[in-house]
Amino acid sequence: MNSVTVIGPGTVVASYDQESTVITNGAVAIQEDRIIDVGTFEDLGAAYPRAELLDAHGGLILPGLVNLHHHFYSALARGLDPGMPMRDFGKILEGLWWRLDRALDAETVRLSAALSLADCTRWGCTTVFDHHASPSCLGGSLNLIAGVVREAGLSAVLCYEVSDRNGHDEAMAGLEENLQFASDHGKSPRLRSLLGLHASFTISDSTLEQVSKQRPADLGIHIHLAEDQLDTRLSQERYGQTPLDRLDHFGLLDGRALLAHGVDLDRHDVSRIAESGAILIHNPESNSNNAVGRLDLEAALSLGCTVGLGTDGMSSRMLGSLRAAFLGVRAGTGDPTSGFDTVSGLLHANSRRAAQIFDEPLLGRLSEGAPADVIVVEPPAPTPVTAANTLGHFLYGASESVVRHTIARGRVLLKDFRHTTLDVPALADEARSATPALWERFRELDT
Ligand SMILES: [Zn+2]
Repeated sequence: MNSVTVIGPGTVVASYDQESTVITNGAVAIQEDRIIDVGTFEDLGAAYPRAELLDAHGGLILPGLVNLHHHFYSALARGLDPGMPMRDFGKILEGLWWRLDRALDAETVRLSAALSLADCTRWGCTTVFDHHASPSCLGGSLNLIAGVVREAGLSAVLCYEVSDRNGHDEAMAGLEENLQFASDHGKSPRLRSLLGLHASFTISDSTLEQVSKQRPADLGIHIHLAEDQLDTRLSQERYGQTPLDRLDHFGLLDGRALLAHGVDLDRHDVSRIAESGAILIHNPESNSNNAVGRLDLEAALSLGCTVGLGTDGMSSRMLGSLRAAFLGVRAGTGDPTSGFDTVSGLLHANSRRAAQIFDEPLLGRLSEGAPADVIVVEPPAPTPVTAANTLGHFLYGASESVVRHTIARGRVLLKDFRHTTLDVPALADEARSATPALWERFRELDT
């Protein structure tokens, strides 16, 4: 039996829901991959006198964060000049992302994943949902990424984005990649899968038909939905239905579906999503970056929709995404009293969805029996933390703070700000060597 580790002393915030327990001068005891106790530092010290101490230096002790929508493959785009104006969402896809993903080879897929996972670790994310595309390195790409995930030590939910944008054969290869990975890793404790779809406007009816036929009943979809008006317009022009109608028509809109964005939805659509039990994923920084507008969070929540939060490859910093969501609500409503109620459930929704997918009901909570996903945020809060004001601390403090320790399923991935599983300076060196050739391949590709 492995020894017990006590993480403390610090201010324990036991979950991201609105009724979270707060323990001042608290601590969390972990053993192997589980939390075995939560209480005051003094009580846990007395209960586990031989425990190893991981000093929290008085910081906030929080559950590991969950990111519901990321794109590891975007990591090497930083500083890349597409060489053409990207005046609208379609041009952003054609001129940047669909060229970058085609230019990726196995080496740059691996490096992109490792760098993104290092950033997730740095910002306290312990469970990440990735949406991958690398058409020139498609077969086996999810297993390649899974290998990096194992090395990094996080939990991940992977998928490959099926699309007809480079032809039907490639769409079928993407479907096969999802199905193969799902059958390899169906019930793995740290790796799960979804069925990735790019977006309605790039997926033909015959492809959706195949997806519908071949999808195992317990494998939910992970798709970009109505990220921009382009999705609705082209879906109707090409296939005679809205994106949501198409998902419904092919039996893909259900309680296991992850729908990223939802910027261009009407109230009727949102009500149907609420009825289906699917989760909408808000990506505020990405939506601002692409100037596509924003999901009407207030309306979605008032219509009963479950809404979670992602970063869409813009960053790996979930507390930063929460702050962006909050500021987006205030900017959108023009009402300085708005925002708190609207964003208060986003991180909790992420934890609930990850708990469902990993069959770990207590994931995202600091409580006995929960997976040992724990982070410590620095510095200690300079003002009182109570059950009633944790969101204020997240939005105005922790979102601008650094993470001291990241522990995922009992394994310390970041200790006193240093990665323990990934050699980040070496990865950056490798990336600087590999990126010029990647960018050269990018420039040679037509849009
Ligand atoms: Zn995305």
